[in-house]
Amino acid sequence: TEHIVIAGGGLAGATAAKTLRAEGFEGRITVLCAENETPYLRPPLSKEFLLGKAAEDAVPVVPPGWYQENDVELLLKVAATAIDRGAHAVQLDSGSELHYDRLLIATGAQPRRIPVPGSEFEGVMTFRTFNDSRRLKEKLSGGGKKVVMIGSGWIGMELAAAATEYGNSVTLMGLEDVPLSIAIGPELGAYFRGLHEKRGVQFRLPASAAEVRGDDGKAQAVVTNTGEVLPADLVVMAVGVAPDTALAEAAGLDIKNGILVDSSLRSSDPDIFAAGDVANALHPFTGEHHRSEHWHNALNGGKVAAKSMLGQDAVMDVVPYFYTDQYDASMEYSGYATLAAGTEPLVRGSLEEGSFIAFWLRDSTVVAGMSVNQQRVQKPIKALISGRVTVDSERLVDTSVPLDDF
Ligand code: FAD
Repeated sequence: TEHIVIAGGGLAGATAAKTLRAEGFEGRITVLCAENETPYLRPPLSKEFLLGKAAEDAVPVVPPGWYQENDVELLLKVAATAIDRGAHAVQLDSGSELHYDRLLIATGAQPRRIPVPGSEFEGVMTFRTFNDSRRLKEKLSGGGKKVVMIGSGWIGMELAAAATEYGNSVTLMGLEDVPLSIAIGPELGAYFRGLHEKRGVQFRLPASAAEVRGDDGKAQAVVTNTGEVLPADLVVMAVGVAPDTALAEAAGLDIKNGILVDSSLRSSDPDIFAAGDVANALHPFTGEHHRSEHWHNALNGGKVAAKSMLGQDAVMDVVPYFYTDQYDASMEYSGYATLAAGTEPLVRGSLEEGSFIAFWLRDSTVVAGMSVNQQRVQKPIKALISGRVTVDSERLVDTSVPLDDF
């Protein structure tokens, strides 16, 4: 029988396994998980789960019993260490070897750590895994701690929100002048900064960490590049991730900001595919390669890769989407950040009231739309984007004109 091996049991890998069975594949499926954890969703780790609003069993990608019921071999705490492309074999750290007919690499990404002196102290952590979230929850939940957050991107901001909600005092530093401005520009970044400042979060921007000071191996303060000493019981480095390409690189696959794949997620080896955070896929809409670090991309990538491995015509052509929740703000974003970059957003609704949509336009068409605390607007936003609909910007920001009317 045919054997499909999936290296990496995150959202992309587990979704691929699910899709293979849903599409009627009856061969053998093996999912390799480096972590000792049934594949789970990461978004709740910095939100509902961290805040104690979701239980441990609320985060698996598919119910834990699904693998056995569907005859999928789930190997926990087993990592793929090498690929022998000629022999179509994957070596495992358990010492054994698996033959594959098709291989999916869904190894995700690893959090970066800034190598400043003291970064190895107890009380300094990065944040990516279920265990990271369990540990941080335990540390934050009593409140009263001084937390220094390094990183002004989505994860840093979400963790700052959770720490604040538990009654800890948070200082957040990052390289940007305004948090999130690389992702959404200074005006909307300032909106998110305001949400945090209202609740007492202190910002140091732009600033970087020069050193972690401590005593007896335990972190006590972060020294910034300007020499300021920020007392800290806990330091979190949320400074982005690097795609986990080690396996693919050693196997000689084409790599450029992740594993280079075509729009059906096939790599430079016709029997090896890649999906999720590790894949840099050609997108038919822009004609460019995009590597996304978002949930929706891993979900769709898992589906597309599974279908492609079965020889179906599947293409990664959905409009990119992601979301964040911070305090009482629920944000959803659809679109092409690379096309939106450098253009001024148009705002429909009110930043002050915290209920609005920001649109980014190119040549009078919407290329991205971000909604905050708005219901049922993402579908029409995606339709405007994928349809390349020409819009009149005055009508677009007029809340009396329904979005379906364009
Ligand atoms: P991963 O989830 O990284 O899974 C890859 C798995 O493969 C890992 O378990 C890894 O241990 C394993 N692995 C690696 N190498 C090997 C190997 N050689 N052999 C076997 N196994 C291996 N996105 C959003 O859109 N919205 C959000 O609100 C949001 N919140 C997030 C919050 C947090 C805290 C984090 C960390 C991410 C968040 N994301 C969010 C991003 C989203 O979770 C990721 O895009 C998604 O997890 C990517 O899935 P993946 O399957 O590609 O990789």
